[in-house]
Amino acid sequence: MSIITIHDKQFETYISAEEIQQKVKQIAEAINTDYAGKMPLFIPVLNGAFMFAADLFKYINIPAEVSFIKLASYKGMKSSGNVITAIGLDYDLYNRDVVIVEDIVDTGKTLNKFLPSLEHQQPASLKIAALLHKPEATIYPLSIAYTGFIIPNKFVVGYGLDYDGQGRNLKEIYQVI
Ligand code: 5GP
Repeated sequence: MSIITIHDKQFETYISAEEIQQKVKQIAEAINTDYAGKMPLFIPVLNGAFMFAADLFKYINIPAEVSFIKLASYKGMKSSGNVITAIGLDYDLYNRDVVIVEDIVDTGKTLNKFLPSLEHQQPASLKIAALLHKPEATIYPLSIAYTGFIIPNKFVVGYGLDYDGQGRNLKEIYQVI
């Protein structure tokens, strides 16, 4: 077990690099089976999902495409709260089999608010692959087709996830102490 410090917080190793790779491979194998004969479009959400998406994509052995997006939140005209839209989505999703690739689902708010804008484009299917899920924190309904690790409601960093900009380069996932 190793302990690291990022800014003002201490973190301890939580999921090893080997465990992550094994899990990512399992998710890819499930996707290879489920999408056999299709050509899924992977849409990873930047910045957090870049490492998960890169490793996942290496294990995909069926024809597939990838298009990274960033999400932007703006206040809608109505009182329905923030609307979340994609920046950089340069694919037409009509009739496509779409897999959203996320680092972590926490409250579920981001994807819950964002998915309707994708559904609007009438994809043939729309599924979520999330490396991490904190069910105790999830308050917005969301169906996650591929989940890597179910984790408790504690802040984590590493493998793409940051704490105030740092920690994304770590091969392991660390949990705050
Ligand atoms: P949600 O909308 O599900 O509440 O939050 C999703 C986003 O919050 C994630 O994509 C991630 O950027 C951030 N997030 C939530 N929990 C954590 C965490 O434990 N660690 C880090 N680094 N980011 C988190």
